[in-house]
Amino acid sequence: MDLIRLKNVEKKYKNGVTAIYDLNLAIEKGSFVFIIGGSGSGKSTLIKMLYREEKPTKGKIVVGGLDVGKIRNSKVYKLRRKLGIVFQDFRLLPKLTVFENVAFALEVIGAPKNEIRTKVLKALEDVGLKNKVHNYPDQLSGGEQQRVAIARAIVNDPKLLLCDEPTGNLDPDRSLEIMKVLEQINKSRGTTILMATHDRETVNKMKKQVITLKDGHLVKFKQKGTYTDEAI
Ligand code: ADP
Repeated sequence: MDLIRLKNVEKKYKNGVTAIYDLNLAIEKGSFVFIIGGSGSGKSTLIKMLYREEKPTKGKIVVGGLDVGKIRNSKVYKLRRKLGIVFQDFRLLPKLTVFENVAFALEVIGAPKNEIRTKVLKALEDVGLKNKVHNYPDQLSGGEQQRVAIARAIVNDPKLLLCDEPTGNLDPDRSLEIMKVLEQINKSRGTTILMATHDRETVNKMKKQVITLKDGHLVKFKQKGTYTDEAI
């Protein structure tokens, strides 16, 4: 079954730049997919449209049965509850501990305290940081901070995890740790993962599906692909 479907999707920004042209895509539930392409190829725009940070100017996007372009602003939370998002720059709250950062999203939706505790500890266990619950973000390495951000994104067990250049600020060893964590989440929780990156080494090692964008066009959708020079 498809978790994501795009039909003839176009995104033209107000300044006249077309970031995505006539994109058709179907992504199956449970898959792990890389979105690759050079800077400005439309990777972030595609990810932003999936969580309704941006709306397509043409075409249709369906995520988990929701017609994303058509949801009212007041109902966007219904979409956001189905997904988790991880950014390049972690975006943790500096004055909250690791536990509190991950718990925050659940507190906002009014989950019971004992449920919050169980889910937060499980998420932190999944990213290998159960021993850091009381630390603050500035006491952690970059790789650890990104793992906290991943725990926060999966704590409510979303169907979809969107990652926009999650390893962009990390060295190769830390990047590999992040990839192992993501792979494990994909396997054990069945979370569909979509990750934008231009980290070719990672893509080549992981042997996952690869969507290649170039100047806003889909140039390839490959099973178990590698990052070739075509993308640049
Ligand atoms: P990537 O993530 O692959 O680097 P982006 O999706 O960020 O690509 O950008 C695709 C194109 O859209 C680029 O030409 C970029 O300058 C343009 N763009 C991105 N965001 C905006 C925006 N908010 N307003 C206008 N143009 C934008």
